[in-house]
Amino acid sequence: MRILKELCALPTVPFEEGRVVEWVEGFVRGRPRLRVERDEWGNVLVELKGKKNGGPRWVFGAHIDHPGMVAKGMVDRRIVEAEFRGWVLVELVMGAKVRFFEESGREVAGKVIQATAGEDGGRTASVRVRVGEAVAPGAIGMWDVENAVLKGGKFYARACDDVAGAAAALSMMDELRRDPPTATVAVLLTRAEEEGFIGAIGAAKRPRLLRKTDRIVSIETSAMQAYTPQGAGPIIRVGDKTSVFDSGLTCFLTQQAEALKKRSKGFAYQRALMPGGTCEATVYDAYGFMAAAICVALGNYHNMDRQGKRIGAEYVDVGDWKSMVRLFVAIARHGHEYREGHGALRERIEARFAKLKRLL
Ligand SMILES: [Zn+2]
Repeated sequence: MRILKELCALPTVPFEEGRVVEWVEGFVRGRPRLRVERDEWGNVLVELKGKKNGGPRWVFGAHIDHPGMVAKGMVDRRIVEAEFRGWVLVELVMGAKVRFFEESGREVAGKVIQATAGEDGGRTASVRVRVGEAVAPGAIGMWDVENAVLKGGKFYARACDDVAGAAAALSMMDELRRDPPTATVAVLLTRAEEEGFIGAIGAAKRPRLLRKTDRIVSIETSAMQAYTPQGAGPIIRVGDKTSVFDSGLTCFLTQQAEALKKRSKGFAYQRALMPGGTCEATVYDAYGFMAAAICVALGNYHNMDRQGKRIGAEYVDVGDWKSMVRLFVAIARHGHEYREGHGALRERIEARFAKLKRLL
């Protein structure tokens, strides 16, 4: 929980993820078995060597940016112009409170007084914010809403998508490092997902951090659907708005979740196609990697409180998030048992065939 609280409290927007990266580097420094590596695009890979090296690796991927603003300059003494990055409906942002974070640590609060839509008409492209004092160009602006607050079993923050996913993956690493699993496990933290998977495309196109033999689990917080409520456990995401994921790998994740449910009380999970957005598994799949996905249901997706018609804190269910970490740990510990394709499934159904074929 400490990892979740600390990570989600950091300011981050697409292409300006430096504070999260810094935090992750500190996390790794304090944990000698972990190793950190970066590629030319600034994506970060944290790795824990398995007890039996050489087999395929398990990579849990999450993006570390979130929709928000970058200050461009002062229009006059009290108004700053900021570029908006990521997808947020323009009709919700007027009057919303903003907080700018300068490199120096100085923070300036303000309020949106003008919002301009992008070419598609719905998306916020730029805003003007009334502020108490001047804001330095380049400062990160985020919605000034409840941040890293626990209330009634929910966790509210400026940014859950997808720093809460990254926090879950790092929490898994924190647990695994005490007794490393058989297979090597890594966490890939990517940049600028909210501007169209830019970091993930870089990571997949000419891979330096990824290997073609990796088994990738893409993590997300995904807009909750009527059939995947919060509180009913993490979701094995069989697909997203754009594509469906590796069938054999998804089946293995489901088996692990089922086994975990049988052996531990209080663990529940869901399995569904989450069409609220496209996730990085689609990118990895497009570049020939083996990818599946797991997510938790997210409230106020991209800070859009559509019922209240205003900007609000994103939120996840704490039980779902904790169960997601438990599921990651179980997958990592049993990862070496996975046989590519549907090996285990075929064995099972063929045994049944052998037994009953005489009746055909
Ligand atoms: Zn996301």
